[in-house]
Amino acid sequence: VLRTGEEYVNAIRHRNKVEIYVMGKEVKDVTEHPFLKPSVLAFKATYDAAHEEDSESLARAWSSFINEEVNRFTHIHRSPEDLAAKVKLLRKISHKTGACFQRCVGWDALNAIYVTSRLMAERGKKEYYERFVEYLKYVQKNDVALAGAMTDVKGIRTLRPHEQPHAYLRVTQVTKDGIYVSGAKANITGIGAAEEIVVMPTRAMSEKDMDFAVAFSIPLDTEGIKVIIGRQVNDGRRLEEGEIDGLPYRTNHEGLVIFDNVFVPMERVFMLGDWQMSGILVEIFSSYHRQGYGGCKSGLGDVIIGAAYNLAKQIGVEKAPHIQNKLNEMVLLNENMYGSGIAASLDAVKLCEDGCWWVNPMFANVTKQLVTRFPYEITKFSTDIAGGIIGTAPSEWDLKNPKLKPYIEKYLQGMMDYSTEDRLRMVRLLENVGFSVAFLIESVHGAGSPEAQRIAINRVYDYEYAEKIAKYLSQIEKRIDFKENAEPWRKTDTEKIASSG
Ligand code: SF4
Ligand code: FE
Repeated sequence: VLRTGEEYVNAIRHRNKVEIYVMGKEVKDVTEHPFLKPSVLAFKATYDAAHEEDSESLARAWSSFINEEVNRFTHIHRSPEDLAAKVKLLRKISHKTGACFQRCVGWDALNAIYVTSRLMAERGKKEYYERFVEYLKYVQKNDVALAGAMTDVKGIRTLRPHEQPHAYLRVTQVTKDGIYVSGAKANITGIGAAEEIVVMPTRAMSEKDMDFAVAFSIPLDTEGIKVIIGRQVNDGRRLEEGEIDGLPYRTNHEGLVIFDNVFVPMERVFMLGDWQMSGILVEIFSSYHRQGYGGCKSGLGDVIIGAAYNLAKQIGVEKAPHIQNKLNEMVLLNENMYGSGIAASLDAVKLCEDGCWWVNPMFANVTKQLVTRFPYEITKFSTDIAGGIIGTAPSEWDLKNPKLKPYIEKYLQGMMDYSTEDRLRMVRLLENVGFSVAFLIESVHGAGSPEAQRIAINRVYDYEYAEKIAKYLSQIEKRIDFKENAEPWRKTDTEKIASSG
């Protein structure tokens, strides 16, 4: 089924009890909780997108697994065009939310596990693939809201998992019916607004770390799971019940998920002890997720560009050459992120015969590396254009105080086409999107911290070949065997990719 947004919210409202904590207190209903409701609304946008005229063609896809139309957020990419549609869809939904809508991690997890289990099947181990396809059908048929979980808490970074078992999610017991796992996953986007969690290992594992090479999925209401929601800048505004200061009133959240001896039935286990494959799974997943950032972050970039442009208009400076230059810079930065995500999609890699399409790992990593830098630049330009008011504007509660209102209206008025309330609304939108966790902190650390992309880029790029070209042109070497492809790197070398995944 293609669920509607309403159906999703109702399902979340009526699910069995899940142990979720916000600021030390247990949450009864995430759909009504002021701290989490904005996240539910952002997540909901991924369902609404499949029923809205402007986005339904992007948001729907045909599944050959169940022979039905499905929400693209549960779709297995079947072509480079499918991958590009993902990036476009994410840009689009950012326009509808002004926030991270949190559903992509679970989607990327589906695709990563699909490809990995497929590769394992090709090497003779079929059971994971068979189980996974059954699970996928269930997810597609029910349009399940998934969170994806990769990052472990990791403790002391120089110690391997087996040297500090508590710091990595691990298998503690295997029975014929299933496995027991304990540990925690950190920074899990949208976890409180999801119905199930898809868990993957966090890094390449050695043989000694076999117990940590585990992938599975589990409903959030499973016994032994606890979720502690993290704080964000300006999150207190969600509790104010205002209508301006917290704009856009949709947002994301991240949480720490604790697994206290949780039982996972065997049909939901997609990797168990296959330490050689954990690096491959991590690498495949991270490239998918890094590609996606070209879409969602450029979508937020559009929101910020639009807000900066409007604020310039509100004070009559939009035609000033230096403002136009800054807006132009913002567009350039934004389209770089997007273009790179599109390149990662259209120059995709086919990893198995009947079409497992993986993104181009070089471009996906370049996309994410740009995303670690450009949103900060875009926010800086927008701050410059907006003026100091972005850090000093009075609250909506001042505007609503009859004693203060006339003064605020008099002294913060710009061009007469706009009211002071318009100005405050736009300032708050810009502040809350431009300085959000989703646009800044997540841009640095989501889908792997900047160093992870540098490592991946270095691994894929062929410096030796580039040097050969230079040696040839400088005539240190008299001849060269040119490669067939223009890029000095090879994009299909999965073994190489996995070796330090
Ligand atoms: Fe999706 Fe972007 Fe949020 Fe990741 S950061 S879940 S890709 S919207
Ligand atoms: Fe993310």
